[in-house]
Amino acid sequence: MGKVTGFMEFERIEEGYKPVTERLKNYSEFVIGLTDEQAKTQGARCMDCGTPFCNSGCPVNNIIPDFNDLVYHGDWKNAIETLHSTNNFPEFTGRICPAPCEAACVVNFNGDAVGIKSIEHAIIDRAWAEGWVQPQPAKVKTGKKVAVIGAGPAGLAASQCAGQMRPVNSGKLLVLCSTSIAFFQSPW
Ligand code: SF4
Repeated sequence: MGKVTGFMEFERIEEGYKPVTERLKNYSEFVIGLTDEQAKTQGARCMDCGTPFCNSGCPVNNIIPDFNDLVYHGDWKNAIETLHSTNNFPEFTGRICPAPCEAACVVNFNGDAVGIKSIEHAIIDRAWAEGWVQPQPAKVKTGKKVAVIGAGPAGLAASQCAGQMRPVNSGKLLVLCSTSIAFFQSPW
């Protein structure tokens, strides 16, 4: 876990926002994320609950206690690998997800929830800065196409995971990915 007494020692830190007058002039990032040290402190607030409600509160079941602990210990590489094991696009969810994980966080019962979303944001920004986010093209291309309906997180994740697609029988293709398994009927 983070720090045994972390949730009693450290206050929750909220991310900041650039002033509206500045934001109106461009489409640049306007969220001011946590510094590495702040993210570490926030990771320290996680209690590594025996029954981590945050995990079941998360729509993609992110392994939240683990990456909180990894950030606390400064192991950003393993933190992004843990995050990516369940989440195809933490650069999106770390910004726009309403964070039901935080509503479910046990610390939220009588205090301020662990800042899970801001930690996730810090992990993926660090991963991009370090060059750890790389294209993952399919090793073998079949030349066949699959239409993915919908451009939300599920559709985007399915598209990304199409790189792992392989035929399983003559009538279906099986798309395997870390967060979902979906069957697509194919005409060939
Ligand atoms: S519920 Fe909160 S304190 Fe418990 S493991 Fe999840 S993030 Fe940590």
